[in-house]
Amino acid sequence: MSTEDVRGHTGIHILKGAVFHVLGEGAKWSASAGSQGTHGHLAVQFDRKPTDEEIVRIEAEANSKISEDAPIEEYELPRVEAEARWGDYIYDLFLLPPELTTLKVFNLPGWNVNTCGKQHTVRTGEVGSLKIAKWRYRGNKQLLEISFDVG
Ligand SMILES: [Zn+2]
Repeated sequence: MSTEDVRGHTGIHILKGAVFHVLGEGAKWSASAGSQGTHGHLAVQFDRKPTDEEIVRIEAEANSKISEDAPIEEYELPRVEAEARWGDYIYDLFLLPPELTTLKVFNLPGWNVNTCGKQHTVRTGEVGSLKIAKWRYRGNKQLLEISFDVG
């Protein structure tokens, strides 16, 4: 992965943490996520359309976490241990195959924890900055979709 790819991917975790921080427990489950270079997208299950002000706050919270230059932790550990430590917060809407007994976990303490085997920056500051490019709420699917760029 190029540095840009790594920063774009790490941006997904930082953005997800900001979404959870602003919208709360109801925005716990990610439906999909991906990035290409410095552009990324994230879809989170949520039961109402967020306000414009909430979206502004999500972007601000993501940038404040980046400015904090917080250290990122990566683990590889038995699935039972990961579940005991973080519960179902490590999962997305689509569960992993049950035969998977060892998990790779991304952890930005107090912000975002998720099973993820991809490469991440060592600290959040390396992401640079995060700008929400566009967003929409799909009421029929109860999905908040956000696309962003890291700069
Ligand atoms: Zn990741």
